[in-house]
Amino acid sequence: MARIGFIGLGNMGLPMATNLAKAGHTVTGFDTAPAARAAAARAGLPLAPDTARAVREAEIVLTMLPAGADVLDVYGEALGAVPAGALFIDCSTIDVTTARTAHERARASAMASLDAPVSGGVVGARAATLTFMAGGEPAAFARAEPLLAAMGRRIVHCGGPGAGQAAKICNNLILGVSMIAVSEAFALAEKLGLAADSLFAVASASSGQCWSLTNYCPVPGLVPASPANNDYKPGFAARLMLKDLRLAETAAAEARLALPLARNAAALFSAFAASGHAEEDFSAIIKAVRTLPRAD
Ligand code: NAD
Repeated sequence: MARIGFIGLGNMGLPMATNLAKAGHTVTGFDTAPAARAAAARAGLPLAPDTARAVREAEIVLTMLPAGADVLDVYGEALGAVPAGALFIDCSTIDVTTARTAHERARASAMASLDAPVSGGVVGARAATLTFMAGGEPAAFARAEPLLAAMGRRIVHCGGPGAGQAAKICNNLILGVSMIAVSEAFALAEKLGLAADSLFAVASASSGQCWSLTNYCPVPGLVPASPANNDYKPGFAARLMLKDLRLAETAAAEARLALPLARNAAALFSAFAASGHAEEDFSAIIKAVRTLPRAD
């Protein structure tokens, strides 16, 4: 059993830390937000007053933070406080370049490190059924795998430093674009007098089949657990989809790739989030698709 410093006890971090504690690990948490600390205390998670004291006896430092700048801040505090040879595992969704910088900083302090973003959302974090996409050296992955197994069901070693973030960003690029494509198909079907259930019956069993259609169908009543059936309550909030599409755009810009669909998807989600829909499920993008004016 490992001694773990867990930094970032928000919607995802707290249930993940709780599952590690349930599996028998010694977990000490820290979060800058008083509300997150209060929730952690209610959940019975031992807390430290700051990052340095949360990690000072840790063999493992786990981070679940909003953005890349937060990860570098926390690494800056933790690297000087943690015992030698610790393993840093960052589960936040951040850009590949910052993830690689975090790896370099860990290596410069003689620490092991892994980027290990997740999919599965809050439901998966609570149920310990997350998917982990890991990037880093094989030895770091081997060390992390049993811990990740206490929080998730599928753990994939995607390659070297940053490969986990790359996998996450590429996957969510497919997801964002495919949700818009499915929404465009239903919007056009409505105008053509084609019933939504007829389109679903055909496309779900044909070459248009995809996760956005058969799991999170943007039209209510066609798929049992779709957020559309629950007035588009997330699920996966539009603001988080926007964040991931922007990460894809940043990566594409650095790679000198045009990726027109990623760019258009980010623009569409950006306008949608800014017009009061940020907290709705990303499948609610069909509302924007139905009402977009045609330029010609
Ligand atoms: P959240 O905002 O609920 O939690 C993040 C926590 O980090 C907050 O409580 C915040 O106070 C804390 N924090 C920020 N800076 C800190 C610092 N310097 N030191 C200590 N604590 C700090 O976010 P979340 O929903 O838990 O998501 C966390 C990460 O997981 C994000 O990168 C997100 O993109 C990713 N993610 C989220 C979901 C989801 O469904 N929520 C799914 C997959 C991946």
